[in-house]
Amino acid sequence: MSHSTTTLPESATIVLQGKGVSRGVVIGRAVLFGGIGFEVPHYLIESSQTQAEIARFKTALSQVQAELQDIQKKLPPTAPTELASLIAVHGLLVADPLLIDTVCRVITDKLCNAEWALHTSGNAWLKQFDSMQDDYLKERAADINQVIERVIRQLTGSQNKALNSLGTAAQLQSTIVVAHDISPADMMSVRETHIAGFVADLGGPTSHTAIVARSMDIPAVLGTGNAHALIQDQDLLVVDGDNDVVVINPSPQILRYYQERDRQSRQDKAYFYSRKDDPTITLDGQSIVVKGNIEAPEEAAEVLRFGGQGIGLFRTEFLFLGNRQKLPSEQEQYEAYAHVLKTVGQKYPVTIRTLDIGADKNLDGEPVNAVNPALGLRAIRYCLAHPEIFMTQLKALLRAAVFGNLKILVPMIAHFHEVQAVKNLLRQAAQELQEQGIEHNANVQLGAMVEIPAIAIAIDGFLQQLDFVSIGTNDLIQYTLAIDRVDNNVSHLYDPLHPAVLSLLHKVIQAGTKANKSVSICGEMAGDYMFTRLLLALGLKEFSLNASGIPEIKHIIRQTHVGVSRSKVAAVLNYGKRIELDKNGLVQNILHV
Ligand code: PEP
Ligand code: MG
Repeated sequence: MSHSTTTLPESATIVLQGKGVSRGVVIGRAVLFGGIGFEVPHYLIESSQTQAEIARFKTALSQVQAELQDIQKKLPPTAPTELASLIAVHGLLVADPLLIDTVCRVITDKLCNAEWALHTSGNAWLKQFDSMQDDYLKERAADINQVIERVIRQLTGSQNKALNSLGTAAQLQSTIVVAHDISPADMMSVRETHIAGFVADLGGPTSHTAIVARSMDIPAVLGTGNAHALIQDQDLLVVDGDNDVVVINPSPQILRYYQERDRQSRQDKAYFYSRKDDPTITLDGQSIVVKGNIEAPEEAAEVLRFGGQGIGLFRTEFLFLGNRQKLPSEQEQYEAYAHVLKTVGQKYPVTIRTLDIGADKNLDGEPVNAVNPALGLRAIRYCLAHPEIFMTQLKALLRAAVFGNLKILVPMIAHFHEVQAVKNLLRQAAQELQEQGIEHNANVQLGAMVEIPAIAIAIDGFLQQLDFVSIGTNDLIQYTLAIDRVDNNVSHLYDPLHPAVLSLLHKVIQAGTKANKSVSICGEMAGDYMFTRLLLALGLKEFSLNASGIPEIKHIIRQTHVGVSRSKVAAVLNYGKRIELDKNGLVQNILHV
């Protein structure tokens, strides 16, 4: 767990490339976080000391367990839901009998100290993960590593050293945490300290570090490879989440440039926020709706605070994931959905997506045995194969619908018969509630996610059967280009600007306009300001994105004359050429494919 560190000449400016997973720029001082940089102590013990050493190991395990429970208890309501489950996974790993037995045996057989026994047993365990292809299992390897580090820090008494050294609140405004990798539990502790930026050697846009950084709205660059080895405590750093780089010891000239950008971006953010509730009308008079995406009921209030005009996507599967022995009951789900509808009230619609389980999101304890999980029993396919689970959710939704304007959104629709099956089950749910004399509202709109090319290509027919559609660009791009969205080996081919993707978006948006049915985009493309003008040019009237991004997207919409780039976009669509955007998201030139 230790590795050599390179000392840089004091004034050397180094630029590290990574992946900007949370936008923005921040200048600050580095605080190295995590134990990867520390030496694991190794010494021999007498055979008479083995029982005491085992007891020391077990005490450390209980202390870590208590620490994790404490963090879990203190999770703020706004914490991403997956984080609670990941912390719970760490709790399970700490209590794993196989790991405990192995370490105790190594202490007894090799007569070595507990730290070393844990370190070597952990390494042997981790080696088994090396050969695995599955991304989910690889992530579990990272969890094991983080848990082992945590217990070793407890044993050596170096726990929370990095956090304690983070300093006072005033200094924290400019503190950048640099880690090899950060566990979910440590992320929550760091989150409480209001640090200004993140750098980590590991992790990509879908890692939990990225999720938390985005929810904290602070710049973050991950996947830098060796930042933790190159950077030293108190080094001056620039984290540029917009351009995927970390600058170590910037020269005065570079520093001036970034100071100006930093000042500008703070000023812009404050300005966007001050106008968050202004009408969202383009320069040529089109009224556009901007809603928020949420993963937990409590986040609905955040969407409203940032000026969102309702909820465009509530990913309900996060209620089902995590350390649960059982699925959420109808009553529990009803309370979660009712909370969102009551928060939003009658003024705006609330779009709740039915369970999108499968692929990279599996229910606890369900083995991933599909050869191609992304093409397997996912989302609506899973729900129709488990009607009892689906029925419970539909009933909870219809009961909650009495509190506001509910729109039910069904993921991964590809077949007309799937729409029919959902309608039949909805009718049955309403009938059962009626018979049971339970208050409900069956007068809700039904829509489908457009995320499989089949529904986009046959959109006219689907629109006849549905009240609205919402385009999930994350999956639509995955399935159109045959790029697994969680496979880093092909992530460079994941291209939202591919003419095939843009043609499908255009086709669906135009079909919606013709049929007078609402079409929104709720995938990541809707939240990326680079694409706002392009999407408007394609005819999009409704965006749904992360709460904190809403004020800026609204601002760009207000600054856009939709007609300006429309003709260039039309040329791209007609001639199958690839477009390039300039830094304002305007169509700059057209390239041959
Ligand atoms: C999408 O696919 O774009 C989407 C919004 O759904 P998810 O990211 O939850 O798959
Ligand atoms: Mg999707």
